Amino acid sequence: MKKKIAILGSTGSIGQASLKIIKNNLKEFNIFLLSGNSNQILINAQIKKYKPKVFVINNFAVYKQIKKKYKNKKIKIYNKFSHIPLSLTKLDITISAIVGIAGLEPTIQFIKKSKKILLANKETIICGWHIIRNLCKKTKTKIIPIDSEHFSIDQLTKNFQDKDIEKIYITASGGPFLNRSLKSFKRIKASDAVKHPKWKMGKKISIDSSNLMNKVLELIEAYRLFPFNPKKYEIVIHPQSLVHAIIIFKNGQTKFLYHETDMRIPIANAIYENNFDIQNILKRRKDILKNFEKFKFKRVDKKRFPIVTLLPKYFNKNSGPIILNASNEVLVSKFIDGKVSFKSIYPTLKAVLGDKDFKKYAIKRSPSINDIYKIDRWARNKTIKLIEKKNR
Ligand code: NDP
Ligand code: MG
Repeated sequence: MKKKIAILGSTGSIGQASLKIIKNNLKEFNIFLLSGNSNQILINAQIKKYKPKVFVINNFAVYKQIKKKYKNKKIKIYNKFSHIPLSLTKLDITISAIVGIAGLEPTIQFIKKSKKILLANKETIICGWHIIRNLCKKTKTKIIPIDSEHFSIDQLTKNFQDKDIEKIYITASGGPFLNRSLKSFKRIKASDAVKHPKWKMGKKISIDSSNLMNKVLELIEAYRLFPFNPKKYEIVIHPQSLVHAIIIFKNGQTKFLYHETDMRIPIANAIYENNFDIQNILKRRKDILKNFEKFKFKRVDKKRFPIVTLLPKYFNKNSGPIILNASNEVLVSKFIDGKVSFKSIYPTLKAVLGDKDFKKYAIKRSPSINDIYKIDRWARNKTIKLIEKKNR
């Protein structure tokens, strides 16, 4: 029997990488559901090429056009995940790859329908991990994180406990501004920040990578997924992006996970649970040993990347990370629109986190979905107010 698969966010960078893996193996997979937001051209192309049974399109104008175009066809097109009938078939694999907190509810919905869930959407893990984890336990859904660092930590720490581990390093490439003069930071535009030197990714994560916010989010994500002592986690700059996590064990061994900078490697390993030949999916360079000569690691320069100083407080299990995430989502989108400068992202985040109402919203543990949205809304409004005040 073919494996039924759903990709939430199929028009994005992770979604497309996943489809590239699956398209070579269509004898094994039945692409049941795909989803997008506003990329009409790609939505059309994916419908034609992959013939999914269901397509969910979040942007209403795009949804209306596509719905009209396929009105006499078998495919079911929905505007919202919540419009999908409860009787939807059971799936073997769901890949959760929508960007931002918009992925939270669809992910929760599809955990209930899937045997296995591959989680790329880090904002969802940061804001709703307690809900996801409990639900997966209840429904016996297997979770595999596919963010490359977390995929690596998962592989490296299986069968080990906190007492066995001395240190966990998460690597950061340092992004496009690792060596740029600090004086010129005031001239950075979104078009500079999206040019990641090593990875081809969506806009938001690329911008988050350029100021190391991505690593701040990833450390919180790691702590949610693998709750080892938070003091053991540290970011290390590794410009080559070939090693994704390093674990120093108390028994004197150190292990790291190496793979080339192609997200198809963690995604395919998660789909096939490490049991396949990568050569069927992508061409690897033959002289891998040559890559090892390039490995460099160095500490994070906090003057260049002050955002990492926000971290220690947000390792705990209260809802501060929801505020950090929401405020950052607003700042990144305003930065893309040219309404916020690159340099003001960090001070604005700091101001939101230092707001007098912060505690009122951030102190809550294990917030419900409604609490999450309430906290998220407060942080978004606060951030917008601060931006407007600055621009006045
Ligand atoms: P992209 O921006 O490339 O893709 C995002 C996807 O989400 C697209 O399908 C987009 O649709 C859809 N989308 C956007 N907004 C909404 C919304 N409001 N409702 C429903 N769907 C929406 O992002 P990436 O693929 O780069 O990243 C996806 C997630 O995976 C992020 O959380 C990211 O942090 C994480 N991740 C990504 C990595 C990468 O290499 N790209 C690596 C590790 C983690 P459309 O394009 O049609 O508008
Ligand atoms: Mg990552």
